[in-house]
Amino acid sequence: MKATRTRAYLAGPSTGKDLDDYPEPLAQRVEITAAGCWIWTGSYDHRGRPKITYEGQTWASHRLFYLLAYGALPEPPIELDHLCRDPRCVNARHLEEVDRGENMARRYALMTHCKRGHEFTEANTYEIYGRRVCRKCQAMRSAAYKARKDAS
Ligand SMILES: [Zn+2]
Ligand SMILES: [Zn+2]
Repeated sequence: MKATRTRAYLAGPSTGKDLDDYPEPLAQRVEITAAGCWIWTGSYDHRGRPKITYEGQTWASHRLFYLLAYGALPEPPIELDHLCRDPRCVNARHLEEVDRGENMARRYALMTHCKRGHEFTEANTYEIYGRRVCRKCQAMRSAAYKARKDAS
């Protein structure tokens, strides 16, 4: 009676509380962590997002879980954001609908260090076109450029 169960979800909204509430092809690809994250053990796309082919359609797995749990998916620019910050998690209750702009701002605020590990302190940071630039990295880039120029 799986088909009936799935249709009931799509008519939604459902709590989607337990993994058992979901169709088996989905539920069997999930590993629950102590923190309550449902880690996707199925395949991932080239951007590291969980994916599955379900009933002939390819889905981002977390979006499919969300659809089955709540009966609808947000339209762009609203997207699903992981409250737990783990992109492998497909737990619908860990997903929140946010404006893409807000999503970016949130990710940005979480970055405390540049990619080389220098802290984004006020003294070490300046903004250019709305992006933070690390002064230490900038100094390293300038030095490297100068060294190349001097060598040639
Ligand atoms: Zn999670
Ligand atoms: Zn840096």
